Amino acid sequence: MQTDFLDKLRDILGEKGLLTGQDVHAGYHTDPRGTGDVRPEAVLRPASTSQVSQIIAFCHEASQPVVVQGGLTGLVAGARPEHGEIVISLERMNKIEEIDTKAGKITVQAGTPLQVVQEAADAHDLVYPLDLGARGSCSIGGNLATNAGGNRVIRYGMTRDLTLGIEAVLADGTIVNSLNRHIKNNTGYDLKQLFIGSEGTLGLITRATLRLFPKPKTQVVAFCAADTFDAVLDLMTHMRSALGSDLSAFEVIWAKTYEAILADVAGVKAPVPLGHAFYVLIEMMGSDVVNDSEKFETCLGEALEKDMIVDAVLSRSTAEIDAFWDVRDGMAYAMGKQQPAVGFDISLSIADMKTIEEVLLTRLQSALGEVRLFIGGHLADGNLHLVAKATGDRPQPRDQIQDIVYEWVGEVGGSISAEHGIGTLKRAYLRQSRSATELALMRTLKQAMDPKNILNPGRVFSSQANHLG
Ligand code: ZN
Repeated sequence: MQTDFLDKLRDILGEKGLLTGQDVHAGYHTDPRGTGDVRPEAVLRPASTSQVSQIIAFCHEASQPVVVQGGLTGLVAGARPEHGEIVISLERMNKIEEIDTKAGKITVQAGTPLQVVQEAADAHDLVYPLDLGARGSCSIGGNLATNAGGNRVIRYGMTRDLTLGIEAVLADGTIVNSLNRHIKNNTGYDLKQLFIGSEGTLGLITRATLRLFPKPKTQVVAFCAADTFDAVLDLMTHMRSALGSDLSAFEVIWAKTYEAILADVAGVKAPVPLGHAFYVLIEMMGSDVVNDSEKFETCLGEALEKDMIVDAVLSRSTAEIDAFWDVRDGMAYAMGKQQPAVGFDISLSIADMKTIEEVLLTRLQSALGEVRLFIGGHLADGNLHLVAKATGDRPQPRDQIQDIVYEWVGEVGGSISAEHGIGTLKRAYLRQSRSATELALMRTLKQAMDPKNILNPGRVFSSQANHLG
């Protein structure tokens, strides 16, 4: 890279805004599941939208590709630099600019960690309901770019549903201020949706106005065991109709995964004993301090009477609520501990969730010998996380496992990515979930908005125009 190129960037960003050489530490070029490790020549750390605009305009002029970074917790290698790219990190753009408590809105800079936004809302007796395991390190910009999901989608929706407006910088440096503050605003194209979930390929999100909700006054959690998948479905229908929108989580853990959590995650205690087929965490968040606990307990009692569940414990304290959630959150650790193994984040219909374990074990084992499967996730959203591990002393047949799983997901009309995005790790399989017409339209948008292909090139789909992967 030319010295005068870096000098120009330093002029725009100041000394603190440009890192080179030894200052480019591993945090800027590795992520938890990443395989490659390309150290970028420079990390740009803008402190304002104006600086973002200037550096993007300059990179555009020089046809210099960039990769934009939030917390690097996306797990699809979308934010890790590839050869020839420089990094733009929004870590200095981490301020909460405005909270409107009456209207339930918060405007934040894109580099603000999710947890900081949650805490700011909480301090005003409000809630920003997006919640996921990486809350302390992921950033709002990354949540938006990947349309993150998480644990409370059943009640509040995905990041897309929580966003009123955004400000973004286009590939040529143009600032698009679309910081809409209205819940209802049908004035032409909803431009923010171009940027939400497009993984930084169409523009760089710099600020956002997000929705806040009244903080629920009650929270009760039950941890249950069920012996059949049909019973779990009956339980879900029962709880949904009884609790309505007060049902805030319905998380299911398959037996093998529950065993792994109890064996591998330190400090986790079994809320209910092993020996059943499925384990379910159910959460209610309501507003009736006097009656909610009893209402929830009555619903669970009915579920027990009707044989939907065979065992259940109800939280009696905040500590117990945390302990139950620790078991659910332990799923990510237990799955991570299976490494080397292959992880998936898929959406399926209910019928396919019922057969997933049997179908995939049969297909994987007939091709690859003994394989272990760990399954669990946000059942009410139709989103499961899955880890497949070929056992024995051999390298993981990663590509074969992915081919078999994604082929099945394509066959049944599922989605190869439910909440993590495509990044670079899943792009070869995108066509299993999206039609050729859809892919062509995505390319048309990319070509129109980033003709020089400098923004997160190769994320979502390959940069070669005639390459479908
Ligand atoms: Zn998840």
